[in-house]
Amino acid sequence: MSKLRFQALHDVQHRPAVTFESLGRPSSLYKSSVFGEQAMRQYLSKSTFDSVQTAIRKGDNIDRITADAIATGMKSWALEKGATHYTHWFQPLTGATAEKHDAFFEVTPGGHVIDKFDGAQLAQQEPDASSFPHGGIRNTFEARGYTAWDPTSPAFIYDNTLCIPTVFVAYTGEALDFKTPLLKALNVIDEAATDVARYFNKNVNKVTATLGWEQEFFLVDASLAAARPDLTLTGRTLLGHAAAKGQQLDDHYFGSIPIRVLAYLKELEQECLLLGIPVKTRHNEVAPNQFEMAPVYEEANLAVDHNALLMDIMQKVAQRHHFKVLFHEKPFDGINGSGKHNNWSLATDTGVNLLSPGSTPMKNLQFLTFFVNTIKAVYEHESLLRASIASAGNDYRLGANEAPPAIISVFIGSQLTRVLDELEKVTDGKLSPQEKTELKLNVIGKIPEILLDNTDRNRTSPFAFTGNKFEFRAVGATANCANPMTVLNAIVAQQLIAFKKEVDTLVDTKDMKKDDAIFNVLREYIKDSKKIRFEGDGYGESWEKEAKKRKLSNNRTTVEALKARVSKASVALFDSLQIMNTVEIQARYEIELEEYVKRIQIESRVLGDVARNHIIPTALRYQNVLIDNVRGLKDIYGDDYTAFAKAQTSIIKALSNHIASINTLITEMIDVRKKSNGLELEKKAGDYADKVKPYFELIRKQCDKLELLVEDDLWPLPKYRELLFVN
Ligand code: ADP
Ligand code: MG
Repeated sequence: MSKLRFQALHDVQHRPAVTFESLGRPSSLYKSSVFGEQAMRQYLSKSTFDSVQTAIRKGDNIDRITADAIATGMKSWALEKGATHYTHWFQPLTGATAEKHDAFFEVTPGGHVIDKFDGAQLAQQEPDASSFPHGGIRNTFEARGYTAWDPTSPAFIYDNTLCIPTVFVAYTGEALDFKTPLLKALNVIDEAATDVARYFNKNVNKVTATLGWEQEFFLVDASLAAARPDLTLTGRTLLGHAAAKGQQLDDHYFGSIPIRVLAYLKELEQECLLLGIPVKTRHNEVAPNQFEMAPVYEEANLAVDHNALLMDIMQKVAQRHHFKVLFHEKPFDGINGSGKHNNWSLATDTGVNLLSPGSTPMKNLQFLTFFVNTIKAVYEHESLLRASIASAGNDYRLGANEAPPAIISVFIGSQLTRVLDELEKVTDGKLSPQEKTELKLNVIGKIPEILLDNTDRNRTSPFAFTGNKFEFRAVGATANCANPMTVLNAIVAQQLIAFKKEVDTLVDTKDMKKDDAIFNVLREYIKDSKKIRFEGDGYGESWEKEAKKRKLSNNRTTVEALKARVSKASVALFDSLQIMNTVEIQARYEIELEEYVKRIQIESRVLGDVARNHIIPTALRYQNVLIDNVRGLKDIYGDDYTAFAKAQTSIIKALSNHIASINTLITEMIDVRKKSNGLELEKKAGDYADKVKPYFELIRKQCDKLELLVEDDLWPLPKYRELLFVN
């Protein structure tokens, strides 16, 4: 009998009931471990408080004296809350968060112990983090990077450690993390969108990009997961036959949350609230053992930090509940994978959502301006947007039957399509008063009403307008949202800058009124970007054909998709907006290719190991059982035994065939891998995608056949039905 699998199943049956201890009402817990506005008011002097708030709002630098004063207040607050250590908390390009704890206590030359934390320690640290990916930016002899405080994301305490959100950059100035380019992109969109919003309201001084993510994940019992080397090392099952029952009954989606899972989610939510993550929604997702959590949306940088923090604490809290969280985009074959929808919008400091239709024609013209500019931006940079969500994991999900395809398109619903169709007919040049009245009354004026009963929902679209925001659905569940958010905000910013220029030119040189000019430019944008709009079934094959005709990119693999990162248009975009320079762009491209190769390489090795060390020996053991049986039959029946051994001998033969296939395929796969390893990075990544990865399916198929043949008692790996239905 296979010990580990059955021990794990035994463990699950005998788990003690997990209880959840509530620390109080959610509203009373919210942000109590965060050094936010409320704590700052209490622990900082009025003048320090004012200067830090102004700096946060305006993005100004904080001087050394103010930093010292903030550090002193932060230290008192943290020590009172029981913190013993502090750390700069950052997001290197590994995809995980990073931290290096230092104790507050220091020994003075006189031998006394003091708790020390000043402005210098708050503002900057050099973690000697030389092992993080840098894409050739840092030579080993100069492998210095430093972290610098990001005051726009508040410090927090987790597990007695004061965590200070920071950027991570090389001494030579290049960004080495996700946050630095994001912050730059957010600044750029603030300026660009503010300029355009001021066409409509002169009082707007700041525009904030907002992000509300929806995190999907699977929960698998920790013991069952530990019995699967593939789950342990790659986060997904590399083999495993489908369970007889999967998601075909649709009985998991929005179903009653299992008791153990609910206890876990309650504790997790409590931790989240303490840390200021405004989690609001939890529900069962479509696949068995798949769930989703979503917060109230926040300013994009904070939302990105909160998602990264959430993913970290999800694993930690899961340990106490004997769960392993799977964030992988496709942990199980044949059922839904996991995404992380990024709901995105723009909000003014006057309290207006720029992607929300308003109550007057003017407000709706503002809405249409931002709406159409976003669509145009997505059209111009669709391949870069696709690249921003490319990863080895997401390749398994995109284009699979339940996830958006690898083709980027925009869904807006039939009502708004009609509005844009009308706007396309606007007169070239100055509009007559009658035309304007007609437009304002019957086209633009109707928007809020029509959106109210706009129940259009197209789940197959990778980028859909959902009433007052766009929802970027192609983002993978493991992704750091900073990457897609940097790209989205950058492309929309660039578009808004171009728009403003065009409108101003028409006003200045063609003597047009501002709204005439806006109508004229929008009309052209609507025409230009029509090809990106698609309202039909994104999962269908006909869309692939249609998209090809429209010359939209359809990059199925990460390796193909990433090329857009270093295209002329992308380099010009980031360089001109000063979000990333050529060196940084190239470095990121290399880092992502490297990561792709490594992930596929690890999967390939694990699959080889498991198939050779677990599956083949198990099949041989079962074959021996059958051989013994046949021998026994021969003992009893002599030459007549064949009449009784037909089934056995055919299974013996089938086992031999599968074993031989697996063995040959693994040898071939290893050979291809070896050859690929000698190539330069781009070619190597291409080979891993086109030559190594195709073996996974072939090997898996043979192993899964064996799973159906071999005696259940002998099978060493927890089966799909156990991973997905036992909890
Ligand atoms: P679903 O898409 O699953 O139907 P909702 O439409 O209710 O769910 O919202 C999903 C997410 O959209 C939530 O995380 C919410 O915070 C976010 N969201 C709502 N409004 C905005 C906005 N203006 N900007 C960014 N995100 C938003
Ligand atoms: Mg959604």
